[in-house]
Amino acid sequence: MHRFFKRNNLIIGILMGVLLGGIVGSLFPETGTKLGFLGTLFLNALKMIVIPLIIVSITLSIMKVGNIGSLGLKALAYYLVTTAIAVFIGIVIVTIIQPGVGSDVFTGGMPEVIKGKENLRVVHLIQTLITPNLFKSAAEFQILPLIIVSIIFGAAFASLGKESKLALDILNLINKAIMKIVHWIIIFTPIGIFGLIANRLGLAGGGSEVMSLIMELGKYVLSVILGLFIHGFFVLPTILFIFAKRNPIDYISKLSEAIFTAFATASSSATLPITMRGVIDDAKISQKIGRFVLPLGATINMDGTALYEAVAVIFIAQSYGIQLGMGELIIVFVTANLAAIGAAGIPEAGLVTMVLVLQAVGLPLEGIGLILAVDWLLDRFRTAVNVWGDCVGAAVLDRFEYDETIHDEKISLAGSG
Ligand code: ASP
Repeated sequence: MHRFFKRNNLIIGILMGVLLGGIVGSLFPETGTKLGFLGTLFLNALKMIVIPLIIVSITLSIMKVGNIGSLGLKALAYYLVTTAIAVFIGIVIVTIIQPGVGSDVFTGGMPEVIKGKENLRVVHLIQTLITPNLFKSAAEFQILPLIIVSIIFGAAFASLGKESKLALDILNLINKAIMKIVHWIIIFTPIGIFGLIANRLGLAGGGSEVMSLIMELGKYVLSVILGLFIHGFFVLPTILFIFAKRNPIDYISKLSEAIFTAFATASSSATLPITMRGVIDDAKISQKIGRFVLPLGATINMDGTALYEAVAVIFIAQSYGIQLGMGELIIVFVTANLAAIGAAGIPEAGLVTMVLVLQAVGLPLEGIGLILAVDWLLDRFRTAVNVWGDCVGAAVLDRFEYDETIHDEKISLAGSG
């Protein structure tokens, strides 16, 4: 009971943070940016803890699960299917609404964010999987190579059998300490979210500026948000209900801290500590599953980003007056999936990997300039859907494992009888 009230207070605090941040940033942009340091402190605290959290939780999870192969494959299958559904929704919506048709092309050259990335290829993304320098990867917030190293360490410890007991005890203890710190950081979520939102709206010049920005690209913004809405509020809850047998309203309310933090930080990776706490502690998904699939999901499972990439690229084509045929739409479908997997869980990463999709269908990279102005805003919505997709995935995989355990137990009972 006591904990329930404490959580409710936190959620009310977060909602106040979003609201006040929105009001201050909209009406008093300068004050908003001045108060931005509150958001930076919060974000720094999350980033500080996320690297140790990932390394310890993945290593522990591999040591405990032993053979991670089947869980890993199931996770990948879930990610691929849900991301593909998201891209499909994006393609259908942008084709129906046609936000780019009739719009004037007004790009001003190659956007800064993609300079030097013009030759990005899938093989470049694959190359980064194995890092020559762990510290550099950690410092640059490249999560995927760290996940891979942690899997290797976990497997190595597991292969040592009883000898690794000491390592297991130490890692368990470190993990407990990390989760304690995460708990402390979460107390500051309302203030942090307030600072992040007030600052971002302030940087954009306040509410009226943001409104005129949205109006300019209104149909495009609407297409992305509508697609995300359908995926986040219909598709994912249906999957949760059918496959994880959980009540979607109850589950989303338990994860509201994580979803709001994703919105405020625009980073799935920075949100990870809060996602893990919500999924494991509040929604009671088994640690074994959550510790492995959540860090992996935060890095490669991005439904919102995939949907957004498809909408954005087709919008760019429409704006240039280029009609994409069925074959090209299929190429957009495949590459948008890849681009979402390759995007890091950091702000506006999807904008960079969009280069892959544009190049695949031969569209000018300058087209990114068309959507740049509103990207920071759409990034928040898609990151929230990315994190929500990870949480739903954890519940589904947890259920599958649970069913399998029962099944295995039945077989062994039958065998022993
Ligand atoms: N910001 C997104 C995330 O962290 C990635 C992107 O779409 O830019 O999940």
